[in-house]
Amino acid sequence: MINRLVNQIVQYAYDNRLLDSMDHEYAVNNVLYLLKLDSFVPEVVDSPVDFFATMDGLLAYAREKGILKTNNEAEKDNFEGKLMDSFLMRPSEINRHFHRLYRDDPKMATNWFYDLSKATNYIKTERIKKNINYKYVGRYAPLDITINLSKPEKDPKAIAAAKKTAETTEYPACALCMENVGYYGTLEKAPRSNHRVVTLTLNDEVNSWGFQYSPYSYFNEHCIVLSKAHEPMKVDYDTFLQLFDFVHQFPHYLIGSNAGLPIVGGSILSHYHFQGGRYDFPIEKSRILKNWRKRHVDIEILQWPLSAIRLIGSDPRAVLEMVNRLFESWKAYTNEALGILAQTDGEPHNTITPILKIVEGEYQFYVVLRNNLATPERPYGVFHPRSDYFHIKKENIGLIEVMGLAVLPGRLKQELDGIKKCLLEGADPLAFPELEKHLPWIEELKQQTFDPATIDLALEKEVGAIFEKVLEDCGVFKADHLEAFVKFVEDAIR
Ligand SMILES: [Zn+2]
Repeated sequence: MINRLVNQIVQYAYDNRLLDSMDHEYAVNNVLYLLKLDSFVPEVVDSPVDFFATMDGLLAYAREKGILKTNNEAEKDNFEGKLMDSFLMRPSEINRHFHRLYRDDPKMATNWFYDLSKATNYIKTERIKKNINYKYVGRYAPLDITINLSKPEKDPKAIAAAKKTAETTEYPACALCMENVGYYGTLEKAPRSNHRVVTLTLNDEVNSWGFQYSPYSYFNEHCIVLSKAHEPMKVDYDTFLQLFDFVHQFPHYLIGSNAGLPIVGGSILSHYHFQGGRYDFPIEKSRILKNWRKRHVDIEILQWPLSAIRLIGSDPRAVLEMVNRLFESWKAYTNEALGILAQTDGEPHNTITPILKIVEGEYQFYVVLRNNLATPERPYGVFHPRSDYFHIKKENIGLIEVMGLAVLPGRLKQELDGIKKCLLEGADPLAFPELEKHLPWIEELKQQTFDPATIDLALEKEVGAIFEKVLEDCGVFKADHLEAFVKFVEDAIR
């Protein structure tokens, strides 16, 4: 049986062009070593091979023979990554092959690398399929909502057990550091044996950048562009140059950066990186509230829950110059009546979330104004979701949400099932400990009547409506402060 499974995974590697026949014996022997086998009989197996069934068989064998000590998902993922690494080119070969393809066509290079990252199950395609995705049509361009069921919840008990036996090390220093390439993984740190990063030069910083895909792809071809140095997030003029250079090299990809300040940034502030991909985000479909044309650039205020300005032009220098005008003006902007303070005690609060894409030969640069001021009344941030909405989304509103894609916690699925029981069958919410945080919301929902046939859609809509409000909380110029927003832009672009 195990001999057949090994034959199947080898056939899979051929079918997906992971394996070169010159590396055949080397790869097979690697797999044998990992499975503690000392012989192998070639067999003919049918293609295509079902990767997930085959891998489940191999992992079950490893567990049965004690190669895997537990049934813990992280332990299995680490071992699976190492098994697949047996078929994978070394990082230098991956880089050479990528750049060879790139010389002919950048799309060919990214298609190849994306397919490879899926074929090794580094991108967790099967788990991503479990996500719940839908569109919410509200007051703005329709928002994308994802309830993220693909990222496994970490088992706190397993982590505590691991901590008792091993000293916590800071290696790799963070999840985006280059040391992750080939890293086996622990119960806490992700499996990266089958992880590969392609080296890029951006803004004349030769080979200083890495390009990889996200293992939990939140949208099509979700990629991460990272500085090879572990240095903190920032947004400045160099960031804009780096973003422009990236879209020059990959004109089929959008790219953006999280803001460089806490509260208004993403979840990883410790490592300078961008995120991008091949996807049309909701913000791109926004209506235009007000527009100007200055120095060959169209400047548009968008109807969007956050304060967003789009600059469009065919000359990258003209667009860059306009972006920088807005950025510099925004950093110095204070409007006490609106609660916007550029700084307090020498700490700056204003920054932007920048996003860039080439559409039909024109540069479209989104400047989303952010402010991270916190007050005793709003300790999490004045322009941060208010605590009333934490039951749906508590985390920072970063780049992906700014563009209109909600990534909501997987726990919501089970919680919504509980809420359904309360609304349809009159179950007592207090009987479900996980519903405690939703109690005020459930009371509100009880004012409506729900039909069992449509309650799922109705609740999806309610969740979407809260996400819309979450984004509105992050807007610095609220809908009824359009005049101040217009004045800010006019002064900046003068
Ligand atoms: Zn790092």
